Amino acid sequence: MFPMVTSFKKYGQLTIRATRYFGQSFMITLSQANHLLVTIQYPYEKLITSEHFCGRIHFEFDKCIACEVCARVYRIDLHVVGWKFEIDIQKKLLLNYSIDFGIYIFGGNCIEYCPTNCLSMTKE
Ligand code: SF4
Repeated sequence: MFPMVTSFKKYGQLTIRATRYFGQSFMITLSQANHLLVTIQYPYEKLITSEHFCGRIHFEFDKCIACEVCARVYRIDLHVVGWKFEIDIQKKLLLNYSIDFGIYIFGGNCIEYCPTNCLSMTKE
């Protein structure tokens, strides 16, 4: 008789605990029902990004002096600066500039070390 009462009591405790957990999860679900939707209708609406958000790199071709500081700072072959030396004017001429975004790591120093500020981060 005793073992049957004990197992019945244990079964009742487990049932009460399971019901409590179910009620708690249901209350969490109900509390989220009042919250506003956070889906942004891009491109009609845009997220307000934080002040330190690092987005796409903007490059100004006319300002670049082909010094290759950005390529040296990054160490991996991220920036490819194509240039030729013009003997007449004793100056490098920038032919092409590319950034391999496949291996791009956010927060690099290339923007900070650029002497002409032709690299900048956008909020996009
Ligand atoms: S550091 Fe700036 S100026 Fe120099 S090559 Fe890179 S982008 Fe051009």
